[in-house]
Amino acid sequence: MSQPAYRRILLKLSGEALIGDESCGIDPMLLGRLADDVAASAQQGLQIALVIGGGNLFRGAALAAEGMDRVTGDHMGMLATVMNALAMQDALERRSVPTRVMSALKVNQVCEDYIRRRALRHLDKGRVTIFAAGTGNPFFTTDSAASLRAVEIGADLLIKATKVDGVFSEDPMTHPEAIFYKRLTYDQAIAERLQVMDTTAIVLCRDNGIPLRIMNIYEAGALARVAAGEDIGSLVVT
Ligand code: UDP
Repeated sequence: MSQPAYRRILLKLSGEALIGDESCGIDPMLLGRLADDVAASAQQGLQIALVIGGGNLFRGAALAAEGMDRVTGDHMGMLATVMNALAMQDALERRSVPTRVMSALKVNQVCEDYIRRRALRHLDKGRVTIFAAGTGNPFFTTDSAASLRAVEIGADLLIKATKVDGVFSEDPMTHPEAIFYKRLTYDQAIAERLQVMDTTAIVLCRDNGIPLRIMNIYEAGALARVAAGEDIGSLVVT
């Protein structure tokens, strides 16, 4: 097996990425497949941090649209990410991958609190480290949490996993003529409002020089290919 091209990456999985064939919640087959890929790369020596969203369970904005207090809805969304993180931890541990969940909200009977220096130590020791509860603040997203944590841990690359092959001018599911961008700049992604990540997340990556790769990780082995230095998906750089 080839040596990883990166020392440390952060992989952002949306909660929806876990739904698979289920109507909501977590598809165990899909979770297992994603865990297989993470395990394979971790076992090759790549340091992997994960941020998992909660959109398969709750989103604050959607709950607020139904009349709930927005902050309460965001708290529910952040707690949803903790559940997803625990599910991924379990899947990884069943594959013998040492894993830690660290939450930005204190739920320390079920997982550790997020403490940056402790997170760095977990990563240095080769433990897959899952950052749960987003940033710990309402009105943010787990995309922003992913770029914040990527900067904090000094990740060499932030990967945003999507269902499509990268960044397109329009949604390729509904617009087959959409143009695919192999390379683009952070400012282009923001100015053209391309479906990359939310603006806060892109700006944090831009201002801290974290390359951002948008790619389909539903293809088995895709993570290992990127870890080995293959240029798949779209790359957002300066
Ligand atoms: N959330 C939040 N602060 C954060 C991260 C997330 O309040 O720093 C809440 C917010 O309500 C969000 C939900 O958690 O809708 C789930 O996160 P997100 O929508 O980013 O999940 P994804 O779309 O990646 O599944």
